[in-house]
Amino acid sequence: MEGLLHERIINGREAARRVRAEVASEVARLGAQGVVPQVAFVRVGDDPASAIYVNAKARACAEVGVRSSHLHLAASSSEAEVRRTLEALAADEDVDGILLQLPLPSGIPDLQLLNAIPPEKDVDGFHTLNLGAVVAGRGPLEPCTPAGIMRLIGMLGVEVRGKEAVVIGRSVVVGRMMASMLLRADATIAVCHRHTAALREHVARAEVLVVAAGVPGLVPGAWVREGAWVFDVGSTRMPDGRISGDVEFAAARERVAGITPVPGGIGPMTIAQLLVNTVTAAQLRRGLVPFVIKRA
Ligand code: NAD
Repeated sequence: MEGLLHERIINGREAARRVRAEVASEVARLGAQGVVPQVAFVRVGDDPASAIYVNAKARACAEVGVRSSHLHLAASSSEAEVRRTLEALAADEDVDGILLQLPLPSGIPDLQLLNAIPPEKDVDGFHTLNLGAVVAGRGPLEPCTPAGIMRLIGMLGVEVRGKEAVVIGRSVVVGRMMASMLLRADATIAVCHRHTAALREHVARAEVLVVAAGVPGLVPGAWVREGAWVFDVGSTRMPDGRISGDVEFAAARERVAGITPVPGGIGPMTIAQLLVNTVTAAQLRRGLVPFVIKRA
């Protein structure tokens, strides 16, 4: 945990930098064998946040030596057009990873399209088989945000075995997967969501708290248990342009053992995990021993 915690603030940027450095050295090792991992980003429509996210991911790829391409389809594209694009990438031998940036324009269902990406190229870990693998045990390609949080927990040396862990948010790709990963790490889990009564009582019990609701200020600092570890996934752009998490940061910080800031906490770890998944996919497709970064 050396250098990752300063006055109870968890430095997600530094943690992510360390993961990226490990990825970069693995990419260099692969390069010496003539293998350059390649990921394709597919973006549909003109959601400005999606453009920013894809550019940030492409920059991170370039930094570690992963090749990336960016396919941008018009907002008016049909489901069939998006599917054809994904199928072409699925058949392309040079492409190791495919990422369909969400959200899709309204009217295009995402579940079927996510499942049109072959599981072995699914670097976001959103294919139903990859999601199921998290619950059944451990998959090679797991969803980046919860996997990144588990990795951060491991880097911080936080012991979750036997602890009370509370996850707020039950989205299929974040909250539910987070709960499954904490459960397999032997924590005792509560999953809260928009219909949870007495959210405060659950938060007060949490020794490990992960908040992924997208509701700024949802968790007042005074609710947080003394000595808790808090991971704030929330990422909401406010009217003044700032990005806000879901936890009242300044007040929570006074009580916790550690808390991730927004920005600079979970976001960079999510992107670092995408790079891990891309290199892992490239290795598995070639029958090479997969890049294993120890996870909690
Ligand atoms: P989602 O909208 O799919 O799910 C939100 C969940 O929060 C739902 O399960 C809902 O029941 C719950 N919720 C909503 N209001 C609530 C309330 N008042 N009380 C309790 N629970 C409530 O969102 P998601 O895709 O899981 O993302 C959640 C947040 O995390 C968003 O802000 C998103 O932008 C952010 N996010 C950040 C990263 C990152 O890399 N930093 C990655 C993924 C998601």
